Amino acid sequence: GDGDVRRLIAGNWKMNGLEDDLAEVTTLAQRLETPRPDNVDVVICPPATLIAPMHALQFDTIGLGAQDCHTEESGAYTGDLSAAMLRDAGACYCIVGHSERRDYHGETDEVVKAKLAAALKADLIPILCVGENLETREAGKAVDTVVAQLKAAFPGAGKGVVVAYEPIWAIGTGKTAGPAEIEEMHAALRQATSPDTRLLYGGSVKPGNAAEILAVSNVNGALVGGASLKADDFEPIVRA
Ligand code: PGA
Repeated sequence: GDGDVRRLIAGNWKMNGLEDDLAEVTTLAQRLETPRPDNVDVVICPPATLIAPMHALQFDTIGLGAQDCHTEESGAYTGDLSAAMLRDAGACYCIVGHSERRDYHGETDEVVKAKLAAALKADLIPILCVGENLETREAGKAVDTVVAQLKAAFPGAGKGVVVAYEPIWAIGTGKTAGPAEIEEMHAALRQATSPDTRLLYGGSVKPGNAAEILAVSNVNGALVGGASLKADDFEPIVRA
């Protein structure tokens, strides 16, 4: 943790969630009313189909984000969604460069940079994901690799950008980076950004490990996948 920077806990639902799941997010919103956590922003990034229906529910306690956006504002891009459309649907944030997009959709640093710029242009707050794979970690090159990834996508000091450090080997695996690994990485990310950039950790954040992770220096929040799907898991993380 860091006293000065407002904390952000963001849930990434990935390709999970049908209209029935609005009940879950309604439960979460109600629980966050009392007592309301006042030093933390809470964001859910549902599948794009649920952004407008969630927005219509007008939660005070939960902001909305998208999981991806296109680089262009409009045009002949069948199946894609622009940042302006996601903003229009009610999103305020947009994840860019998630490792699953980099892996399954071949997104390069250059594409991620363009998406980040498109998000900013549409007034979405980008949540830029960076992270190393296990091979890179074991070769002792994690910090250099991740800082290079960040710099490849970051416009200048990256004002208004949120950065999420997500070691690929920790995503959906139940393994997390240790506090010392997170501290080292976040110190490097802090140096490469600015004192008020929100730096999140992501990768198997759960109710049982959230407090320890959030206490690490230069960790200003978390990007949570699996444990964001149930109010019973997500609420204690928000309150950790
Ligand atoms: P996980 O996913 O919390 O399920 O590991 C995190 C993410 O991919 O953002």
